[in-house]
Amino acid sequence: MSETATSIHIAGAGLVGLSLALALKSRGIAVTLSERGPDPATTNGPDERHLALAERSAQFLASLGLKRFFEEHGEVIARIHVSSAGEFGVTRLVAHDQGLKRFGVVVPARKLLLALRDAAAQPGIELRFGDGVTSAEDSETDIAATTATGSRIHSRLLVIADGAESSLRSASGIDAEVFDYEQDAVVAAIDTERAANGEAFERLLRNGLVALLPQRGTRAGVVFVQPRERASELMALGDDDYLSELQTTFGYRLGRLRRIGPRVRWPLRRVMAQALIAPRRVVIGNAAQSVHPIGAQGLNLGLRDVADLVDSLGHDPGDADALARYALQRMPDRLGVCRQTHLLALGTQLRSPLAALARSAALAAADRLLPLRDHLTLRGMGWGGAAV
Ligand SMILES: Cc1cc2nc3c(=O)[nH]c(=O)nc-3n(C[C@H](O)[C@H](O)[C@H](O)COP(=O)(O)OP(=O)(O)OC[C@H]3O[C@@H](n4cnc5c(N)ncnc54)[C@H](O)[C@@H]3O)c2cc1C
Repeated sequence: MSETATSIHIAGAGLVGLSLALALKSRGIAVTLSERGPDPATTNGPDERHLALAERSAQFLASLGLKRFFEEHGEVIARIHVSSAGEFGVTRLVAHDQGLKRFGVVVPARKLLLALRDAAAQPGIELRFGDGVTSAEDSETDIAATTATGSRIHSRLLVIADGAESSLRSASGIDAEVFDYEQDAVVAAIDTERAANGEAFERLLRNGLVALLPQRGTRAGVVFVQPRERASELMALGDDDYLSELQTTFGYRLGRLRRIGPRVRWPLRRVMAQALIAPRRVVIGNAAQSVHPIGAQGLNLGLRDVADLVDSLGHDPGDADALARYALQRMPDRLGVCRQTHLLALGTQLRSPLAALARSAALAAADRLLPLRDHLTLRGMGWGGAAV
């Protein structure tokens, strides 16, 4: 059995764990990152998601060495169009009207993961792929984590960034509240006849939603959220039949939809950790909170976890008082965003005509009542409250 020591040990090299490793390294703190899965640079795991990042999240990642990645792969969101199928309300949000250059940036998730992984290949960051953490024991001065290959890694702080199904969260005695939306997101990249030119679309349906996030030229990422059984039927369709379902639901705002890439399906659950800290441990990213994609908030929240955690660390990164201050500081942001996202997600499941009418009226009102609309935009894009 090998024994090593490091200052901070991160379990989970997803988008959040890798971002934290880079943020800590930029402050001169050496880290070890243990990932259960294989090195993404040597595998071709399918992830067709396109992620909408708030402007401040994009700036934060750019400052960690991803400036060129955003220049090459980021597409701006300059306008947002929200509509409700079969109803009259439409809300249009324009960045310039809010005094902003853009609301945020859309990036392909897989390319972002590879860019973060590349940036993390530097002295001071030890990357251990294919060797997840299986257990951890804390003492007054350190925490010793055991990995799948039997190594023991001593650190002052273990950061639990192992995703929504986190086994390390529960092994640390932290419960999580789980709400199953009984919906799945079917995700794919497509081509549209007309370029979206920086416009993102969200179309609320009686039983889900369809969102289209712009990429360069006529490429776009589409998320189609449907009840689980219906999502199974959609996954079983051939490409042409699937495209025609999508076209009927989304309409012809961007002309014909075509050239669809592989489809990937994500079950949608809300997972809320009941605490963020345990002795010499802190939970971040999806392991702390996993939210419905309707508000495009998950990674934005995880990056704010990263920024706040790095700012709160003192001489001993596992110091209980500093961790308690961190947990308290994250409370309003995470609870506020999770509550708002949950309500929006439940709204997409309301099928009664009256609920549809109320939602439609709310959208129409939001379009007329500028201050309300501005508030929704700014908060939604991570500018309100604690932002990165
Ligand atoms: C359809 C969809 C669309 C989305 N769109 C957006 C969007 O537009 N904007 C946005 O901000 N967010 C969006 N999100 C949310 C975003 O993708 C997540 O919030 C983000 O990817 C979470 O990253 P993470 O690193 O916390 O977790 P994960 O990506 O789950 O990474 C956890 C990692 O930990 C590893 N692991 C597990 N167990 C162990 C262990 N014991 N030891 C070591 N490693 C372990 C796993 O292999 C994995 O690599 C979307 C999500 C979905 C599903």
